[in-house]
Amino acid sequence: MQVYEHICKMADGMQDELTAIRRDFHKFAEAGWFEMRTSSLIARRLTDLGYEVLTGDEVCRADARMGLPPQQALDEHYEKAMQQGADAQFLPRTRGGMTGVIGILRCGEGPVIAMRFDIDALGVIEETDPGLHRPAREGFGSVNPGFMHACGHDGHAAIGLGVARVLMDIRQQLHGTIKLIFQPAEEGVRGARSIVENGHLDGVQYLLGAHISDKDPADPAVVTPGSYGSLATTKYDVILRGKSAHAGGAPQLGKNVMLAAATAVLNLYAIPRHGEGQTRVNVGTLRAGSGRNVIADEAKLEMEVRGETAELNRFMEEYAVRIVENAAAMHGCTSELTLMGAAGSLVSDTALCERVAEVSREKLGLAVSDALCSENGGSEDVSYMMNRVQEQGGQATFMRALTAEAAPAHSRCFDFDEKVLPDTVKIFCGVVYDIAGQ
Ligand SMILES: [Zn+2]
Repeated sequence: MQVYEHICKMADGMQDELTAIRRDFHKFAEAGWFEMRTSSLIARRLTDLGYEVLTGDEVCRADARMGLPPQQALDEHYEKAMQQGADAQFLPRTRGGMTGVIGILRCGEGPVIAMRFDIDALGVIEETDPGLHRPAREGFGSVNPGFMHACGHDGHAAIGLGVARVLMDIRQQLHGTIKLIFQPAEEGVRGARSIVENGHLDGVQYLLGAHISDKDPADPAVVTPGSYGSLATTKYDVILRGKSAHAGGAPQLGKNVMLAAATAVLNLYAIPRHGEGQTRVNVGTLRAGSGRNVIADEAKLEMEVRGETAELNRFMEEYAVRIVENAAAMHGCTSELTLMGAAGSLVSDTALCERVAEVSREKLGLAVSDALCSENGGSEDVSYMMNRVQEQGGQATFMRALTAEAAPAHSRCFDFDEKVLPDTVKIFCGVVYDIAGQ
């Protein structure tokens, strides 16, 4: 019991420190693959604490990163990160979007436990009115226009560093191997795969992740032990190419990409519903053509499909690809699909959820929500990591760290009650000790 008390005392004592870390990351918000300052400071902190630290291509497999921003934007941000106080030793490792950090604590023989903390901001313009938004009022609103921590990943990064400090402090009481994975580019489900493909989840027996989530202020519960039901998804950029011609003089010489694009969009929405579960399809953007009297020769679509299971998502994916290719061919055009993001469906293991509930309630004195699992809307690429661990017979859960939110996630007024930071540090550390305590 002593160790649990120590964890609680230490985490509660870190409230100010965790708040400061969260607000620093919030202020210098960096969206997916731009997390250069963020990653360099995480690597610095883990190194100072005594962790074995992986950075750069040791973390993400370069060619398995999805949805990379243009090289020039990455280069420009690198300079900015330097000016904004990135760590000089670790910043060079992040060049070109090689962001993400893993800290490893080796405590001899025993279980292998991984924890995942996502660290990226979003492409949202933050509210600057101090009357409407606390970060603006208290001076930690984003100084990087167009980047905002509107999903709480600034809090996730702070929680990860808090967990790192507490676990290092109790390492004499632990056995096994502990990996803290700070993942880039969760938004758009672009980052997890590149970490999985570098083998970092191989051999992991337990995986814990968490997302800050809104709660009813009257409900004392600080955690829901698991989530389920997040949809598997695949996201593509599609380029269609045709041939331009004079629309009045010789339209027959053109290959009209406008028709190919329109045919593709209409038919994507005509993929049949599936009897075995939920599916989705969306074409979010379509840009085509160059002028009124010109047969259009290039179009770009941003599209995605989703499915309740990997099989349903695959059904959608195969159908969608066939439609795009054939819509292009119908009008003599060509198509090129680039994979921009992907995630699996999400299932938390009941045994691990029960463990989270019991440790939180019995050992840490924290209130737990009545439901063991709650449904996760949208998609989450921690599922990639969870699926890998579960395939090998390990257990995984994606918890909900409950806190009062000021506005819905992904909106310009998003903010949350920072009391969630120490409480969530306690839960991660308590569960790790329950599994790996000596
Ligand atoms: Zn998020």
